[in-house]
Amino acid sequence: EVDWFSLASILFLLMFAPLIVYYFIMSCDQYQCSLIDPLTDLLTGNKHLSDIWNKTPMLTYRAAAIYTLWVAFQVLLYVFVPDFCHKFIPGYVGGVQEGAVTPAGVVNKYEINGLQAWIITHLLWFANAYYFHWFSPTIIFDNWIPLLWCANILGYAVSTFAMIKGYLFPTNAKDCKFTGNFFYDYMMGIEFNPRIGKWFDFKLFFNGRPGIVAWTLINLSYAAKQQELYGQVTNSMILVNVLQGIYVLDYFWNEAWYLKTIDICHDHFGWYLGWGDCVWLPYLYTLQGLYLVYHPVRLCTANAVGILILGLIGYYIFRMTNHQKDLFRRTNGNCKIWGKKPEYIECSYMSVDGTKYYSKLMTSGFWGWARHFNYTGDLMGSLAYCLACGFEHILPYFYIVYMTILLTHRCLRDEHRCFSKYGKDWKRYTAAVPYRLVPGIF
Ligand code: NDP
Repeated sequence: EVDWFSLASILFLLMFAPLIVYYFIMSCDQYQCSLIDPLTDLLTGNKHLSDIWNKTPMLTYRAAAIYTLWVAFQVLLYVFVPDFCHKFIPGYVGGVQEGAVTPAGVVNKYEINGLQAWIITHLLWFANAYYFHWFSPTIIFDNWIPLLWCANILGYAVSTFAMIKGYLFPTNAKDCKFTGNFFYDYMMGIEFNPRIGKWFDFKLFFNGRPGIVAWTLINLSYAAKQQELYGQVTNSMILVNVLQGIYVLDYFWNEAWYLKTIDICHDHFGWYLGWGDCVWLPYLYTLQGLYLVYHPVRLCTANAVGILILGLIGYYIFRMTNHQKDLFRRTNGNCKIWGKKPEYIECSYMSVDGTKYYSKLMTSGFWGWARHFNYTGDLMGSLAYCLACGFEHILPYFYIVYMTILLTHRCLRDEHRCFSKYGKDWKRYTAAVPYRLVPGIF
């Protein structure tokens, strides 16, 4: 059943999300990252929409070639280069790994080679920047709007293809979800784990690459642009590069673990993931770096250190909370959390074929403080990126606003799902751990 609120939200996002991305990027390109000035110009009649549009760079052959090469290169690394990192990096889990059990009871296998793809891509980037000079390190910044059109084309193409595939040739028909509402199905997806062949998994590929591999390259390109424009890279730009770099590396270091997170093991693949990974993520998660090209903020040492500490504490909480749940689930509770045996609630649920499964919900460690303390850490880190940009404009703060909405909505969505799954056992859990994000407040 698709309720009216969900349908209205979906229609809103389908219509406005591409415009929001365009508005942010255009306001940097034409208005020095002011979000107010374009509106003022339009409302006062100083400019017409056509004036803004006419100044917007269009799709170019160069951008199309760069983007095609980029995506093709990531496909090549994903499909044709089996992971070798796990063979020599101690503690890294890569190579062939199993995902979670799907609602239809399927366990998919994945080739986890994202860290390797990230390393190869970045080695090539640095080799080019310092040695080969095939292209300028500012190439991404210099083609940013033409590349936006390419990313949109891919985002819409892959979401539309996924929908058609869901109807005509699904990878696993039993894991498809049809609500009967076209817009909902297009946005939230029909197929659970669409694949081409044995290994090309849409969710794993689009979730991590090309978007997340590109994230650090985009930031490097912004840093290179600062260097070109001002003869130096500011400490704020370095902070954003370092803190977001840690977040990206963490993603690839834990790619096998991400197979058990909501995006991969609960969401179906539609426009939300397809377009979101191609356009929303690379364009809006990197707004701080883009802003700093136009406003090269120089932070005093105390502020820079304060922001670094906030970012690192946020990252620590994010990582440790995720680690505690992972360890707890992997060992089925036979582990130590903060030096003690973990406390938990036993629970059970049924899959669609009527099989009964048992699970455990931990109530100690960070999971005893709040039900989503990993999100709290994530939000602290996100705030740190924004603070690095100073207080002159609101544009760089979009990220923390967006992440707060995303993660709060995710809390509610996840809890709704967990309640449907575990029923009264979930109620016992929420009674034992009453807060969601901030103990004593929410
Ligand atoms: P979680 O890793 O928190 O996973 C939620 C699931 O964990 C629940 O559905 C339930 O699954 C299980 N669970 C819940 N409570 C407990 C408990 N007490 N003990 C054991 N298991 C429990 O959520 P996500 O997958 O959303 O997030 C993973 C990470 O990714 C987070 O740190 C988040 O911040 C980050 N993230 C970042 C995003 C970004 O855009 N930057 C976007 C999304 C996520 P089950 O059915 O198995 O019981």
